[in-house]
Amino acid sequence: MRQTRIAVVGAGLGGLTAAGFLQRAGFVVKVYEQAPAFSRIGAGIILSANVTKVLRRLGLEDGLIAAGIKSQSYVSRAWDSGEVTAEFVFDAEAERRYGGPYVHIHRGDLHAVLERGVVAGTIAFNHQLVDILQSSGSLRLIFANGAAAEADIVVGADGVRSKVRDCLLGPEPPQFAGFTAYRAIFPAARLNGFWIADCTKWWGTDRHCLPYYLTGRRDEVYAIGVVPATGWEHGDASIPSSREHYLQSFAGFHADLQRVLQAVESVTLWPIFDRARDDRWSARDGRIVLIGDACHPMRPFMAAGGAMAVEDAAILGRCVAQFDDPARAVRCYEATRIPRVAKVQEISIANTWMHGPTETDWFYCYDACTAALAAPQ
Ligand SMILES: Cc1cc2nc3c(=O)[nH]c(=O)nc-3n(C[C@H](O)[C@H](O)[C@H](O)COP(=O)(O)OP(=O)(O)OC[C@H]3O[C@@H](n4cnc5c(N)ncnc54)[C@H](O)[C@@H]3O)c2cc1C
Repeated sequence: MRQTRIAVVGAGLGGLTAAGFLQRAGFVVKVYEQAPAFSRIGAGIILSANVTKVLRRLGLEDGLIAAGIKSQSYVSRAWDSGEVTAEFVFDAEAERRYGGPYVHIHRGDLHAVLERGVVAGTIAFNHQLVDILQSSGSLRLIFANGAAAEADIVVGADGVRSKVRDCLLGPEPPQFAGFTAYRAIFPAARLNGFWIADCTKWWGTDRHCLPYYLTGRRDEVYAIGVVPATGWEHGDASIPSSREHYLQSFAGFHADLQRVLQAVESVTLWPIFDRARDDRWSARDGRIVLIGDACHPMRPFMAAGGAMAVEDAAILGRCVAQFDDPARAVRCYEATRIPRVAKVQEISIANTWMHGPTETDWFYCYDACTAALAAPQ
């Protein structure tokens, strides 16, 4: 065991992955999560090979595949003609090449799997961080429920509205990105036998829609539809919407997509927030450091925000384990991560990933558990 106490704030994709790696490196780790428990919110997520191969190291790959689906293909189609502009096959050969499977999974099921990657009792639910008091000794975390905790290092994995980021850099809310997302999950039986590919991205001129299966039985479908919006008046909350609104927003799209959206039961509408690139991810002394959406929220158009959080977590775990000095550890983490995250952020804004023939190896083949670490800057 090492003596350093590490507090991870946020039990999302990044936080739980970081905790899993830091515990394996022998640190004393506690995760503080504001939610009272994990819930099965109505959304799916795509985990590409660069994520699944990292989660394999935490013993989670089989669980991901059992709860989700090992996707066989990703197809890009034109909104009006339905023409296939690109197709990516995820067969056994692709899995070998990329070093892991391409998985779609319900977010609720993903959390249940991720929780198995940390020691039982690691997560303290109902702990919303409100402040961090810094002294020359340890850091003191203050929670909304009146509790407090001491740590030597705080990892801010608390998402796009990160309180840890506020404590580090001062309050600066994220910006509404000018898009909202319809999110609907429904039983595949509602397609009445209509065949769909494992994942299709329907590309419009200013909007897109992505229906994909969530389970290996192909009995549950998730359809996320992103549309432009001039503003959002509901904070970071989602609002209920309707199949009619969803269909209206994609009126004129190819009949195959209309057929899928007609099968939608209930649907919610979510705002999309992001921030301009900002490379301030840590305190100078390295005792407070951010990962995932807390330091680089991005538009979800490349389906890569979660992937970046998982890669961050794996690299941070390696850096903290390698350097006794936290300042050197976070300099190494930032130098390793910032160039790759910046590239992914740019592609996400451009929304071009896999629209046509795309070189994907640099993204999918990357292994955050073995990739070279950059020299601390
Ligand atoms: C519509 C949409 C679709 C997406 N699709 C994909 C996809 O297919 N693939 C992909 O890789 N990415 C996708 N993303 C991006 C992905 O969801 C995020 O990038 C990812 O969830 C970031 O992980 P994280 O761990 O940094 O933060 P989060 O997953 O947001 O987790 C943060 C956690 O911190 C907790 N928390 C927040 N504040 C506090 C506090 N003060 N105290 C304690 N706990 C706190 C939260 O409750 C939450 O559990 C999508 C995003 C959107 C919006």
